[in-house]
Amino acid sequence: MITIHCDNCERELELEDREAGTKVACPHCGDINRVPESASARPDRADRATEAGLPPDHGPEATVRTLRPCMVRARPLSFTGVALLMIAGLVGVVMGLTTEGRAWLAILGGVIALLGFGVLIVWWLKTMSASLVVTNKRTIMKKGILARSSSEVVHDNIRNIQIDQTFWQRVWGVGSIGISSSGQDGIEIQLNDLKGPTDIRKVIDLYRPL
Ligand SMILES: [Zn+2]
Repeated sequence: MITIHCDNCERELELEDREAGTKVACPHCGDINRVPESASARPDRADRATEAGLPPDHGPEATVRTLRPCMVRARPLSFTGVALLMIAGLVGVVMGLTTEGRAWLAILGGVIALLGFGVLIVWWLKTMSASLVVTNKRTIMKKGILARSSSEVVHDNIRNIQIDQTFWQRVWGVGSIGISSSGQDGIEIQLNDLKGPTDIRKVIDLYRPL
Protein backbone atom coordinates (compact mmCIF):
# COMPACT_ATOMS: atom_id res chain seq x y z
CA MET A 1 0.00 0.00 0.00
CA ILE A 2 1.28 3.49 -0.92
CA THR A 3 0.03 6.65 0.71
CA ILE A 4 0.53 9.94 -1.11
CA HIS A 5 -1.02 13.34 -0.77
CA CYS A 6 -2.74 15.03 -3.69
CA ASP A 7 -0.70 17.96 -5.05
CA ASN A 8 -3.86 19.97 -5.45
CA CYS A 9 -6.26 19.22 -2.60
CA GLU A 10 -3.68 17.59 -0.26
CA ARG A 11 -6.07 14.80 0.64
CA GLU A 12 -4.61 11.38 1.36
CA LEU A 13 -4.68 8.90 -1.53
CA GLU A 14 -4.19 5.20 -0.90
CA LEU A 15 -2.76 3.32 -3.84
CA GLU A 16 -1.51 -0.14 -4.67
CA ASP A 17 2.25 -0.74 -4.67
CA ARG A 18 2.19 -1.48 -8.41
CA GLU A 19 1.06 2.11 -9.07
CA ALA A 20 4.49 3.47 -8.04
CA GLY A 21 6.02 5.44 -10.92
CA THR A 22 2.69 5.93 -12.70
CA LYS A 23 0.20 8.79 -12.82
CA VAL A 24 -3.11 8.66 -11.03
CA ALA A 25 -6.12 10.97 -10.97
CA CYS A 26 -7.19 12.16 -7.54
CA PRO A 27 -10.69 10.76 -6.80
CA HIS A 28 -11.56 13.93 -4.85
CA CYS A 29 -10.54 16.74 -7.22
CA GLY A 30 -9.44 15.00 -10.42
CA ASP A 31 -5.93 16.42 -10.30
CA ILE A 32 -3.30 14.19 -11.94
CA ASN A 33 -0.63 13.14 -9.46
CA ARG A 34 2.67 11.49 -10.31
CA VAL A 35 3.32 8.63 -7.90
CA PRO A 36 7.03 8.55 -6.96
CA GLU A 37 8.93 5.45 -8.08
CA SER A 38 10.24 4.93 -4.56
CA ALA A 39 6.94 5.67 -2.84
CA SER A 40 6.35 2.07 -1.82
CA ALA A 41 9.85 1.71 -0.35
CA ARG A 42 9.95 5.01 1.48
CA PRO A 43 8.33 5.19 4.90
CA ASP A 44 5.84 7.97 5.39
CA ARG A 45 7.90 11.04 6.20
CA ALA A 46 5.03 12.62 8.10
CA ASP A 47 5.55 10.07 10.84
CA ARG A 48 8.98 11.36 11.83
CA ALA A 49 7.73 14.87 12.59
CA THR A 50 4.49 13.65 14.13
CA GLU A 51 6.35 11.17 16.33
CA ALA A 52 8.47 14.04 17.63
CA GLY A 53 5.27 15.86 18.57
CA LEU A 54 5.56 18.43 15.77
CA PRO A 55 3.14 19.44 13.00
CA PRO A 56 3.02 16.84 10.19
CA ASP A 57 5.04 17.28 7.01
CA HIS A 58 1.96 17.22 4.77
CA GLY A 59 -1.16 19.34 5.02
CA PRO A 60 -1.37 23.11 5.43
CA GLU A 61 1.73 25.11 6.34
CA ALA A 62 2.26 25.44 10.09
CA THR A 63 4.97 27.24 12.04
CA VAL A 64 7.17 24.82 13.95
CA ARG A 65 9.76 27.16 15.46
CA THR A 66 10.33 30.92 15.57
CA LEU A 67 13.87 31.81 16.62
CA ARG A 68 15.76 35.00 17.32
CA PRO A 69 19.46 35.47 17.95
CA CYS A 70 20.53 35.56 21.59
CA MET A 71 21.87 38.77 23.02
CA VAL A 72 23.50 38.09 26.38
CA ARG A 73 24.28 34.44 25.78
CA ALA A 74 25.96 35.19 22.44
CA ARG A 75 28.34 37.84 23.83
CA PRO A 76 28.48 37.37 27.61
CA LEU A 77 31.79 39.22 27.98
CA SER A 78 30.73 42.23 25.91
CA PHE A 79 27.45 42.38 27.77
CA THR A 80 29.18 42.26 31.16
CA GLY A 81 31.63 44.92 29.99
CA VAL A 82 28.88 47.31 28.91
CA ALA A 83 26.91 46.63 32.10
CA LEU A 84 29.96 47.34 34.29
CA LEU A 85 30.63 50.55 32.33
CA MET A 86 27.06 51.71 32.97
CA ILE A 87 27.33 50.91 36.67
CA ALA A 88 30.65 52.80 36.86
CA GLY A 89 29.01 55.76 35.12
CA LEU A 90 26.09 55.78 37.55
CA VAL A 91 28.47 55.54 40.53
CA GLY A 92 30.31 58.55 39.04
CA VAL A 93 27.03 60.48 38.83
CA VAL A 94 26.19 59.77 42.48
CA MET A 95 29.70 60.60 43.68
CA GLY A 96 29.81 63.76 41.57
CA LEU A 97 26.49 65.00 42.90
CA THR A 98 27.27 64.26 46.54
CA THR A 99 30.79 65.69 46.62
CA GLU A 100 31.49 69.41 46.59
CA GLY A 101 33.22 70.65 43.41
CA ARG A 102 32.94 67.36 41.56
CA ALA A 103 30.31 68.35 38.99
CA TRP A 104 32.63 67.18 36.19
CA LEU A 105 32.54 63.65 37.63
CA ALA A 106 28.72 63.67 37.54
CA ILE A 107 28.75 64.84 33.91
CA LEU A 108 31.40 62.30 32.87
CA GLY A 109 29.56 59.51 34.67
CA GLY A 110 26.28 60.52 33.05
CA VAL A 111 27.82 60.51 29.56
CA ILE A 112 29.36 57.06 30.13
CA ALA A 113 26.10 55.63 31.49
CA LEU A 114 24.10 57.04 28.55
CA LEU A 115 26.66 55.71 26.07
CA GLY A 116 26.36 52.23 27.58
CA PHE A 117 22.59 52.48 27.47
CA GLY A 118 22.72 53.52 23.79
CA VAL A 119 24.98 50.59 22.93
CA LEU A 120 22.53 48.18 24.59
CA ILE A 121 19.53 49.68 22.76
CA VAL A 122 21.21 49.45 19.33
CA TRP A 123 22.42 45.92 20.15
CA TRP A 124 18.93 44.88 21.26
CA LEU A 125 17.29 46.34 18.12
CA LYS A 126 19.78 44.53 15.90
CA THR A 127 19.10 41.29 17.75
CA MET A 128 15.32 41.66 17.56
CA SER A 129 15.37 42.53 13.87
CA ALA A 130 16.62 39.10 12.77
CA SER A 131 14.52 35.99 12.92
CA LEU A 132 14.36 32.45 11.64
CA VAL A 133 10.96 30.85 11.11
CA VAL A 134 10.84 27.09 10.57
CA THR A 135 7.56 25.77 9.19
CA ASN A 136 6.73 22.22 8.15
CA LYS A 137 7.46 23.24 4.54
CA ARG A 138 10.30 25.76 4.57
CA THR A 139 12.68 27.88 6.61
CA ILE A 140 12.44 31.65 6.28
CA MET A 141 15.05 34.16 7.43
CA LYS A 142 14.15 37.81 7.99
CA LYS A 143 16.61 40.61 8.64
CA GLY A 144 16.55 44.37 9.03
CA ILE A 145 14.66 46.97 11.03
CA LEU A 146 13.57 49.63 8.52
CA ALA A 147 14.74 47.99 5.31
CA ARG A 148 13.71 44.35 5.59
CA SER A 149 14.98 41.45 3.59
CA SER A 150 13.91 37.86 3.68
CA SER A 151 15.20 34.64 2.24
CA GLU A 152 13.74 31.18 2.29
CA VAL A 153 14.57 27.59 1.52
CA VAL A 154 12.02 24.84 0.90
CA HIS A 155 12.96 21.86 3.08
CA ASP A 156 12.65 19.35 0.25
CA ASN A 157 15.36 21.29 -1.63
CA ILE A 158 17.90 21.60 1.18
CA ARG A 159 21.34 20.41 0.16
CA ASN A 160 23.24 21.20 3.35
CA ILE A 161 22.73 22.58 6.83
CA GLN A 162 25.96 23.92 8.23
CA ILE A 163 26.48 24.68 11.89
CA ASP A 164 29.45 26.67 13.12
CA GLN A 165 30.37 27.02 16.78
CA THR A 166 33.56 28.28 18.33
CA PHE A 167 34.71 26.63 21.54
CA TRP A 168 33.09 29.31 23.70
CA GLN A 169 29.92 29.27 21.64
CA ARG A 170 29.65 25.54 22.35
CA VAL A 171 30.09 26.24 26.05
CA TRP A 172 27.24 28.76 25.91
CA GLY A 173 25.11 26.64 23.59
CA VAL A 174 24.92 29.08 20.71
CA GLY A 175 26.16 29.04 17.13
CA SER A 176 25.45 30.00 13.57
CA ILE A 177 23.33 28.06 11.12
CA GLY A 178 23.75 28.16 7.35
CA ILE A 179 21.33 26.52 4.93
CA SER A 180 21.98 25.98 1.26
CA SER A 181 19.64 24.45 -1.27
CA SER A 182 20.17 22.42 -4.39
CA GLY A 183 19.95 24.48 -7.55
CA GLN A 184 21.62 27.52 -6.02
CA ASP A 185 25.23 28.24 -5.24
CA GLY A 186 26.22 29.61 -1.89
CA ILE A 187 24.40 29.73 1.40
CA GLU A 188 20.93 31.24 1.20
CA ILE A 189 20.20 31.40 4.89
CA GLN A 190 22.84 32.43 7.41
CA LEU A 191 22.04 33.51 10.94
CA ASN A 192 24.41 33.86 13.86
CA ASP A 193 24.07 33.66 17.65
CA LEU A 194 21.19 31.19 17.64
CA LYS A 195 20.51 29.16 20.75
CA GLY A 196 20.76 25.39 20.27
CA PRO A 197 21.67 25.32 16.56
CA THR A 198 21.96 21.51 16.50
CA ASP A 199 18.40 21.19 17.83
CA ILE A 200 17.21 23.52 15.07
CA ARG A 201 18.92 21.30 12.51
CA LYS A 202 17.26 18.21 13.99
CA VAL A 203 13.84 19.83 13.67
CA ILE A 204 14.48 20.85 10.05
CA ASP A 205 15.84 17.36 9.27
CA LEU A 206 12.47 15.90 10.27
CA TYR A 207 10.96 17.68 7.28
CA ARG A 208 13.67 16.75 4.79
CA PRO A 209 13.43 13.73 2.49
CA LEU A 210 16.41 11.96 4.09
ZN1 LIG B 1 -7.05 16.05 -5.08
